[in-house]
Order: sequence, then structure tokens, then C-alpha cells
Amino acid sequence: MRLVLGGVRGTSPVADPKFAEFGGDTSAFLVEGSNGEAIVIDAGSGVRVLDPYLRQTDHSSAVLLLMTHYHLDHLMGFPSFSVIYDSTWDLEIKGPRLDGVAASDAVRHILSRPFWPLQLEALGGNIVFTDLPEDGGAPHIYHGLEVRWCPVPHLGGCVSYRLDDPATRRSVVIATDVEWPLASETERHNFMEFCKYPAPPDLLVFDGQFTPDNYARFRGWGHSTWQDAIDVAKLVKAGELIITHHHPRSDDEKLRQIEAEVKRQMPNAWLGRQDAAIEIG
Ligand SMILES: [Zn+2]
Ligand SMILES: [Zn+2]
Repeated sequence: MRLVLGGVRGTSPVADPKFAEFGGDTSAFLVEGSNGEAIVIDAGSGVRVLDPYLRQTDHSSAVLLLMTHYHLDHLMGFPSFSVIYDSTWDLEIKGPRLDGVAASDAVRHILSRPFWPLQLEALGGNIVFTDLPEDGGAPHIYHGLEVRWCPVPHLGGCVSYRLDDPATRRSVVIATDVEWPLASETERHNFMEFCKYPAPPDLLVFDGQFTPDNYARFRGWGHSTWQDAIDVAKLVKAGELIITHHHPRSDDEKLRQIEAEVKRQMPNAWLGRQDAAIEIG
């Protein structure tokens, strides 16, 4: 099982040489199973980075795009996703209904006039939308991988995804946007149970946009600190931790400083770098 980090920047993309090591593109991930299965999670500006990886995968069945939520930093790359213009590919988009808004509503909205020249029906690709099944805890098999999901506390709502590869029993939990300090007892319990079954995840990807020093100023904005990410990883007994959703003002030097402190507390943890391909387990 392999995870490709298309984009790990939070909130808005950054193009600046001082951000080149960790990358400036926003959330997009590709999970590949041991038999060539491929699932994309989120369509931030980093979805462009995933294109060459995705083109190497078997696309005899539809590409599945799982959306965590519809904030712009997770959707702004959709118009640059080459699959949507390619009639030889089929794309299925699945996401939660948040505040009554489904994935199809959100995608249609960002492609509507005057935001984009081509509307959904004119793109050329074969795109279908489906809602997430109601029971997130039951494993649903998509493209040979088991997919589970769990709501997490974030302004406007968000879900995290767990993907298990039945062939190798490897697993990854991806929680891009979550404000752990504001999680209720029930939300904490549900997320921990979600991580626990069928076994603790080999890899946890978790929001660490803020620092313990600046969190008080941004409390209620929807994100955790890198310290929260470590605490959660230890709590759920994750094998490894990748921190994501880096603050758009944190340059490489700042992120390297944070990573050094992270590694002091958890040697098998690091900060995500755009375009990294990580073998899980
Ligand atoms: Zn975000
Ligand atoms: Zn968000």
C-alpha cells in the first residue's frame, strides 16, 4: 500500500522558493493498493501533482475521488484535474452531505459562471456523483480497498477516511482538517474507535496547522496543532504519523524547526512533503 502526497499545504496555495521543500499545493492524496487499486482523496491544488501517478494506474474501472469536505483548499484543484476532460476515463466522486450540500452541488458551484469557463456537462469526462453510505463504520469495498469514514470536528463539518488493503492488512487514516481541542467527548470516542478497528492504523495523516504557541489566537478556526497530532497518534497507537495542512505562512525553515521538535517526541513522525510517495507498513 502506498500513499502519494499531492499537496500538504493548508488554507491557500503558496508559490515561493522558501516553501519548495514542503511544497505550496493544498490537500490532495492518492492511495494505491497492493493490486494497483487507486483512490484519490480531495482535489486541492495538489491534485495536479497526482496526475502522473494516477496515469500509471489501471483505469479500467472508474477513478474514485473521495471528498473530505468542500472548503476551497480541498476543491480548488478540481478544474485542473486532467481526468475530468478525458473521455477515456470515468470518475466517481463521493463525499458527505454537509449543511445540505452534496459533492455534486459543490463541484457544480465552483464550475458555474463566472468562476470557470466550462461547466460540468461540457468538460468531456465521464463523471458521476454518489453520496457516502450512511454507516461510516462498516467497510465498503471500492476498487478492492476497504473504505470507512468518520465525522470530525471542523468548521462546517468534515470527514476523515480510513483505507485498508485486504491483501496486505495495511491501513491509513487521513484526517486533513480537524480541530481536536474542540472535540466533544463523543467525537473523541468515535474517532478513537474509528482508528481502532480492525487494527490501529499503520499510518495516520493528521492536521497540524497551528503551533502550541499560536493556537490560542486561532482557536475555533477549525485546525489542530502539531502537538495535538502527536497526542492523537499516540492515543490511537498509529505506527507512523505524517502531519499535514501546514500553515500557508510557515516556510521551510519554520517547518524544519517544527519537525525537529516533532521527532524528539515521536521518532516515527514527520511533516508531509509534497510529491512524496510513502510505502505504508
Ligand atoms: Zn483545509
Ligand atoms: Zn476545511
